[in-house]
Amino acid sequence: MINIPQNCLECGQAYLKKDATLVLEGKDNFIFHLTCNKCQLSTLMKITVGSKGILSVVKMTDADKKDINKLKDNKAISANDVIQTYMSLKKHRVMNKEIRNDKPTKNVRC
Ligand SMILES: [Zn+2]
Repeated sequence: MINIPQNCLECGQAYLKKDATLVLEGKDNFIFHLTCNKCQLSTLMKITVGSKGILSVVKMTDADKKDINKLKDNKAISANDVIQTYMSLKKHRVMNKEIRNDKPTKNVRC
């Protein structure tokens, strides 16, 4: 039995088949982009099939279906590229938060 989230993180709406886009299909991992049909929250869901079972990680994302399709249309893209994009999206959100909190460092002397 695959234990993957089947409801929106935000509003609890059940995902429909049409809400999910397969972004990456690897040897033992899959990344889906899900958009809630009720509140439009976008999430990326990574499913890893390991020896101990199936792991799923769900992250909210700013990328909408258009961005994902752009990624998919690029035939040169590799599995690592998608994972990197996924990681940098995650990092980007964190960094934005940090930048806002940081004081300007223009007056640093060498
Ligand atoms: Zn929702």
